[in-house]
Amino acid sequence: MTSNRLKDMLFRYMQPGLIVAIVAWWTLLPPSLASSATTFFWTGIAIKGFVLLLEAFNERHASWRLTPRELLSDVIYVALGYTVVQWLDHNIAERGYQAFKAMVGIKTPWLTAAPVALQAALVVVLLEFGQYWMHRGMHNWRPLWLTHAPHHYLTQLNALKGHVGNPIELFLVGLSVVSLFDFSLPGLFAGFSVLTAIFCFAHANVRFNPPAWYAHVFTTIESHSLHHSMEYEDTRCNYANALILLDRMFGTFRAGETAEVGQEAGRKLGIKDVMVYPFTPLIDGARGMLKGSRA
Ligand SMILES: [Zn+2]
Ligand SMILES: [Zn+2]
Repeated sequence: MTSNRLKDMLFRYMQPGLIVAIVAWWTLLPPSLASSATTFFWTGIAIKGFVLLLEAFNERHASWRLTPRELLSDVIYVALGYTVVQWLDHNIAERGYQAFKAMVGIKTPWLTAAPVALQAALVVVLLEFGQYWMHRGMHNWRPLWLTHAPHHYLTQLNALKGHVGNPIELFLVGLSVVSLFDFSLPGLFAGFSVLTAIFCFAHANVRFNPPAWYAHVFTTIESHSLHHSMEYEDTRCNYANALILLDRMFGTFRAGETAEVGQEAGRKLGIKDVMVYPFTPLIDGARGMLKGSRA
């Protein structure tokens, strides 16, 4: 086998291979490490770093090539994800779900003892189902769109771009009923790590060319790049961030891919623009009122 064919094969099976490896990692780790938030944090960093590294070996589009400035901005968003978004998740969503769970008396102890792979699959399906409908809602209702729009102003994609967006949006798409179930920590961590990998793949500047069965079930850079199309109307397809099968089931799937991504002919948003974007109508309204009172 020539080295080129070997490379093609390696990249072709990289995405399903890494998903299997992640589940195996969480299944085989000693219990103390498999239940540790530190292990979970470093697993996430390793996945992001690894997929980003793949971009250097099998680039998809030269126009998406990472620059130091772009990397610095992406790293800031990743840090925001681990701090602000996690704080919102923990202090608002998680507490609300726990209070509801206690009030209604939901108990699922059988789940805690289930195999890690089964728990991970359930976490992925539950989270992605909520994510699909929230994301679809964001493309159909202006107040929600204002929180999500900054993610669509990206003019190039890479493995870290799933983190780029307004924290309100990232909090909203992360809402799910997962917290109502008694998953074990390794099961939860395995599910979240698999989702991390698929989100990285779906934004990565990598030529994977996966098998057809993989692209039928999971979101790939092909289907997700089309979701990042320049025209707003063209973004209204392929809403699933991880399971593109949901778009096929609910009639929103579109085949194809694009290298040209962004909004408003490629206008770039700085970090400050991204933070205030959801409040644009309020800010414009206040400015209008001030102008009116001066006139
Ligand atoms: Zn979107
Ligand atoms: Zn995206």
